[in-house]
Amino acid sequence: MSEVWSMDWYLVPLQYDCRHCGTQADGYGLVLGPNTQVSQGTTAENWDVDRLGTYGAVCGWKRAGPQRCEFITAMSEGRLRFTKDELLLACEHCGGRTGLGAVAPTAMENFVQWGSLRAMRNERRMIVAKGADIAKFHDGTVIDFDRAIGPSFAVVARGACHNDSRGQGRIEILLDLAAGHYAWSTMFGNRGSQKAWSTLSAVSGRQIATMVEQLALAEIDLTSLGCIDDAGPVCRFAFEQIVNGLMASGYACDAGRS
Ligand SMILES: [Zn+2]
Repeated sequence: MSEVWSMDWYLVPLQYDCRHCGTQADGYGLVLGPNTQVSQGTTAENWDVDRLGTYGAVCGWKRAGPQRCEFITAMSEGRLRFTKDELLLACEHCGGRTGLGAVAPTAMENFVQWGSLRAMRNERRMIVAKGADIAKFHDGTVIDFDRAIGPSFAVVARGACHNDSRGQGRIEILLDLAAGHYAWSTMFGNRGSQKAWSTLSAVSGRQIATMVEQLALAEIDLTSLGCIDDAGPVCRFAFEQIVNGLMASGYACDAGRS
């Protein structure tokens, strides 16, 4: 178990078989980037902190304090939850908990696959673990991220969407805090088929109406949308702007909110 500090990490969507109810459930894995700081234990005499140096999938995560990292639950739409300070997958069907170690291989596989499609995005918020088990990727895994959507963008809303030919998908709406630009990104996939995912992303103009037009051109209907961080004033403000923009563009209120 290592102590970990990271602003270099990724939530990786995946599916897994719940061992409690046997149903296939949606979840997220956690992948740490090379800039993650890792220590085998820090004391006054021993302050030995290393960079992880490569990508690693989290197999176990104990948070440092009761208030820390609660936003991961909102960011994962409740699929990742803390139980006695341990981060666990929560089944959407039965609520049963599964350890992250069970999905680490899938998280790695999806991360490499979607990373190559530029579908993964660095979350860039500080997370801290007082104890983490990390499975490192093979040496030489190089993934080129964040070109389609720049590093100044933060995810402010996440939800579900639909496209007639692609089926059900997930959508993220991002805000560039510096420029005030909105962007969106969608992923579609069939249940049980990890290979069926694809991605589409586009940076809109300042106006949310432009983003809504782009979604309409791509024939993407929003079915639900939730604010990533209800406690964050900027995030909440951005989310309200998005919902107001959607309503002004003809979305029904209950379709704009989850
Ligand atoms: Zn279950």
